Amino acid sequence: MKKLLIGNWKMNLTSNQALQLAASITSPSDEWQAVVCPSFPHLSLVKSALSANVKLGAQNVSRETFGAFTGGVCAEQLKDIGCEYVIVGHSERRIKGGESKKEVFEKLHRALEAGLKPILCVGETLEEYTAGKIATVIKEQLDGISFNESLIIAYEPVWSIGTGLIPTIDEVEHAISLIKQVIPAPVIYGGSVNSKNSHTFKNLVSCSGFLVGGASLNAQEFNNIV
Ligand code: PEP
Repeated sequence: MKKLLIGNWKMNLTSNQALQLAASITSPSDEWQAVVCPSFPHLSLVKSALSANVKLGAQNVSRETFGAFTGGVCAEQLKDIGCEYVIVGHSERRIKGGESKKEVFEKLHRALEAGLKPILCVGETLEEYTAGKIATVIKEQLDGISFNESLIIAYEPVWSIGTGLIPTIDEVEHAISLIKQVIPAPVIYGGSVNSKNSHTFKNLVSCSGFLVGGASLNAQEFNNIV
């Protein structure tokens, strides 16, 4: 499997800005697969502007399928417009959106059923990090998940997201090994990755890529990460 460079654009950009950004993303070397995850309203537009070897993902998915779920977007709809990936259980959805573990798992299963590749985010808060609870948190967040060859896990320490703080390479390696003890899926790292610090993790054999937030909103910065 190629290593993944995934850009999470979050709730940013107008349609013109999204179009411009999409058109400026270049495909990394053969070892890497670039993926961008724009907001729902920009998915089709972005797809039309991406070069053929850059893939499309969504940032969220409903736990339901077609039907009377106003405001929802189901996995089949994402697949239908060309998404290959979907982020599930991002800490911003768990913490700010109040998503429970049950809901996250239901979304994960729906994504897999529809043939999408879910990127399941796990990781500890600063409080949990300080209390030395990384292993407990990771095991709890993954407990009950069965292996599926389409599943990707993103290790994202919550305290690192958007803060400029990054764990040490040993801490990332340790977290990845904890995840792999529970589920033998590819694990990517996310949290304040940019073109200046990515070299730290790029050659970590157990790390299958990056999930990038802030730095993915600048094409030059994103293109230079790998
Ligand atoms: C994220 O939100 O998934 C993320 C990794 O954000 P940032 O790169 O901005 O820390």
